[in-house]
Amino acid sequence: MSTIRVAVDGPSGAGKSTLARAAASALGFLYVDTGAIYRTVGLSVRDRGADPGDEPAVADILPSLRVELRYDEAGRQRMLLNGRDVSEEIRLPEISRYASAVSALPVVRAYLMETQRELARRNNVIMDGRDIGTVVLPDAEVKVYLTASAQVRAERRCRELEERGTPQPFEEVLRDIEDRDYRDTHREAAPLRQAEDAVPLDTSALDFQQSLEALLRLVRERMAGL
Ligand code: C5P
Repeated sequence: MSTIRVAVDGPSGAGKSTLARAAASALGFLYVDTGAIYRTVGLSVRDRGADPGDEPAVADILPSLRVELRYDEAGRQRMLLNGRDVSEEIRLPEISRYASAVSALPVVRAYLMETQRELARRNNVIMDGRDIGTVVLPDAEVKVYLTASAQVRAERRCRELEERGTPQPFEEVLRDIEDRDYRDTHREAAPLRQAEDAVPLDTSALDFQQSLEALLRLVRERMAGL
């Protein structure tokens, strides 16, 4: 039997991971945060002291990497890099920049493609990222394009960083989000864009519960029509 695949794409800070994780738990699906996978590659490039924009240098590093996903008892995704749990470290703002830079490299995208597809072949998934509905799972049963204004996304990210004990000034966070939006939408390799058959969901004016209900409604409607 084939699996059900829900692709959730959108810019950074739109609430993709929190929402997709909660929706996956409500539906009994596996949640896959693909940004965490790019972050893990970004971290390894930083650790090796390589330039994340230097494609041949990054390509040299890839064969020595073992990037694994695990799920803890609470169902949370953990990232392992050569056996080391790096789930917390990859959230540092510095690693966001490395992740954004390495994710623009075709060699990195090709390297991670099969890992992502394999997860969706084995499980019913909600997978979030930038190119899931357009490139990784172009025939996903459900595609959602999740957005919110840059201002709202920066506010949410600031709260998140504060809760993690790594607060950052709002202006810095906003600039970071705008820079990443620009890079994610203007890069040549798998740029962030809404798939033609994706349903847009703007959460700027919605709280978490309302956003979750909207997302679940969408998925259930689509599933009922399958
Ligand atoms: O979603 P998150 O902010 O954790 O993603 C980290 C970086 O990885 C983003 O800046 C984005 O450029 C990249 N990414 C990507 N494709 C994906 C998921 C994330 O290019 N499917």
